[in-house]
Amino acid sequence: MTGQGVVWLGSPSFPEAAREALKDSQLRANLKRATGTIRDKRLAVASELDDWEALREAGAAIKKRTARHLDRYLVQLEESVTAAGGTVHWAADAGEANRIVAELVRATGEREVVKIKSMATQEIGLNEHLAEQGITAYETDLAELIVQLGDDRPSHILVPAIHKNRTEIRDLFTAEMGHWGQPAPDGLGDDPAELAEAARRHLRSKFLTAKVAVSGANFACADSGTVVIVESEGNGRMCLTLPETLITVMGIEKVVPTWSDLEVFLQLLPRSSTGERMNPYTSTWTGTTDGDGPSAFHLILLDNGRTDTLADEVGRQALACIRCSACLNVCPVFERTGGHAYGSVYPGPIGAVLTPQLVGVENAASLPFASTLCGACYDACPVKIDIPEVLAHLRAKVVESKGRTPEALAMKAAATVLDSPRLLGAAQKAASVGGRALARNGRIGRMPGPLAGWSDSRDTPAPPAESFRTWWRKNRETE
Ligand code: SF4
Repeated sequence: MTGQGVVWLGSPSFPEAAREALKDSQLRANLKRATGTIRDKRLAVASELDDWEALREAGAAIKKRTARHLDRYLVQLEESVTAAGGTVHWAADAGEANRIVAELVRATGEREVVKIKSMATQEIGLNEHLAEQGITAYETDLAELIVQLGDDRPSHILVPAIHKNRTEIRDLFTAEMGHWGQPAPDGLGDDPAELAEAARRHLRSKFLTAKVAVSGANFACADSGTVVIVESEGNGRMCLTLPETLITVMGIEKVVPTWSDLEVFLQLLPRSSTGERMNPYTSTWTGTTDGDGPSAFHLILLDNGRTDTLADEVGRQALACIRCSACLNVCPVFERTGGHAYGSVYPGPIGAVLTPQLVGVENAASLPFASTLCGACYDACPVKIDIPEVLAHLRAKVVESKGRTPEALAMKAAATVLDSPRLLGAAQKAASVGGRALARNGRIGRMPGPLAGWSDSRDTPAPPAESFRTWWRKNRETE
């Protein structure tokens, strides 16, 4: 964990982790199949709507307005939640948020909590912190459960266990479920319905006994104080209604100005994430209600680097993310390397721009380079975050932060050479002679010295025997 608390960051760096991931053909096959399926479904349902582009524009506009007046909307949200019987807590960083959650759980006298998926709590490493305090957190989302049983890490925003196939999941259930509660039935097969049933039976006892739940939030409406979770399995609904105490940890960027703004996002999110017209479960709650649902509701507003991100005029776009994962599913780099290579709870293109901003570019310097800049993520993003623009912006920051590197000096020397026809001619001659000496079958496999970094990941064509200028002088100059 880094200072500010985005877990798993930076070890190893992206190029190293990606190189390892590329060797895993099972991982690549799992990812290709899963992302390809979601990609096709998303395209099909998005194209059904004539006003899809207008919806994207509306989503982007609401997010921009929210970011401009974030302070005002957050204070309004606090007032609305408090008026509805909830309690709001402000957490500047991971440590503060973890401490608040642990104290709230301890005050109930409980030692177990059920959880519905929350990237914010993964970001701050809440489960690990609670474990240190003697409190066990049970993940109830199926994919999160798979990750927890395997002592693994999520590799996708929406499908955290995307790197596992169903046989691997069956083996995991058989080996581990018994350590956490109800064991998997004897002779469990790898049919998805059988696996879901095993998970359902395992989780049921947790739902029926847990007195405290921890959740994330997809949105929170400043005007009404309503918090919203969208999900597919109904496990969230159980966590949000059965326990006596509900603690929600939410990044401050999740606030939207009004209830009616949900009209836009509840169309954009399911179509962009799971390729569904509507997600199966949308839960909304506003404070507490006597005799219905949790009797205590706590909302923790988490900063953890977000106000620093907001201060960056280009980079702040990343805060508009609604975590749909469409950018991951279209990214050629993600499809081949998987989520773990990004070293953060936020993988893929959005992770490559969000993580370095949350923890400081110097702590995640390799991530802005984890992209081909092909622009597919921008085309897919339902709130029109220009991820390639932010990537280029962060790359410049990484380069600036490194000062006078050999690369910067080489670029400066190249600028001097390109500026002088005489020096350029001499350099071309030297490159032609040297290049042909190194080339095999017209390609240079590995360049010497500091140029090796360039040629490690690509073949370099051998320079031509004569430059264009020489050729021109010989063949055309006298015409
Ligand atoms: S950046 Fe856009 S496409 Fe990617 S997860 Fe966020 S909202 Fe979805």
